[in-house]
Amino acid sequence: MKEHDIRPKAIFDEYLRLAALDVQLLFADAPCVCIACPACLAEGSPAFKKNGFQYALCDACQTLYVSPRPVAESFRAYYTDSASTRYWATTFYRETEAARREKIWKPKAALVAQKVRRFGGAAHVVDIGGGYGTFAEEVRALGGFELTVIEPSVHLARVCRDKKLRVVERFLEDIGAGDLGAGPKSFVSFEIFEHLTDPAAFLQSLYRLMQPGDLFIFTTLSGTGLDIQVLWEKSKSVSPPHHLNFFNPWSVRSLLRRVGFETVEVTTPGHLDVDILGNNAGDIPERFWKTFLQFADEQQKSAAQAFMTASGFSSHMMVVCRRPLA
Ligand SMILES: [Zn+2]
Repeated sequence: MKEHDIRPKAIFDEYLRLAALDVQLLFADAPCVCIACPACLAEGSPAFKKNGFQYALCDACQTLYVSPRPVAESFRAYYTDSASTRYWATTFYRETEAARREKIWKPKAALVAQKVRRFGGAAHVVDIGGGYGTFAEEVRALGGFELTVIEPSVHLARVCRDKKLRVVERFLEDIGAGDLGAGPKSFVSFEIFEHLTDPAAFLQSLYRLMQPGDLFIFTTLSGTGLDIQVLWEKSKSVSPPHHLNFFNPWSVRSLLRRVGFETVEVTTPGHLDVDILGNNAGDIPERFWKTFLQFADEQQKSAAQAFMTASGFSSHMMVVCRRPLA
């Protein structure tokens, strides 16, 4: 898989341009608060500023995060109605859905199904922020699973219902345990964690909905992943106002522990780091990776990527955790 298969350059660049304009419009006067490291609560140091947002880096656990951080209300306005979120939900999705289904959602459905079975999770899968329901459809197609999608957006919830998926049209924090039916469940969420204004509060809401022994499997960006480490503030993944938290395989464990979860497994199944570096070679500030990209053939690039994936240093991270039994 290549980056441009799932993020065609012109479409992705237009999205980033609109996002930068939205920031000026919606966040210029937003009240902000300084926050401690969202993983370990230590005090971070200023790292860099991007599109008017200040990022801080935790020296203790290397979590990269926005602080001072605009208050939650500013983000609600942004996600409810803004030019870039509209573009993402319409043009971006329409142009990329077929490719994303094949390249992202089918493999992800297979991988998640494998993790659920391997770690003894329940066959009732609840997708938090299920969007267009593509993941849920692909898991359903595998057979043997019951699906529920939690999706607060009216428009997206309707898309899921049209696909004959069971939808709970609410925000996670407004859902009671009864809304999801009885029995054990496996909760999943994809590419949401990096957007959360308060990750601990999100996990606490989820913990309350879970039964002892239930699994939670999620993916998010890892700030210690290769392309983010090398490109740093030039990384297109470091894109406010969307991406506020970059945990890593080490720091995410302290957050989970603090909320009461048991970490089962943290992996970085990403495949794109080296390709992303190649697509942004002009922004690489240091010598080694520039030289590597100039001379390495496809086989050497694949080997480098395989090492990053296997060693936990890819920027795409998958976490499996559990609400403990006692
Ligand atoms: Zn920290």
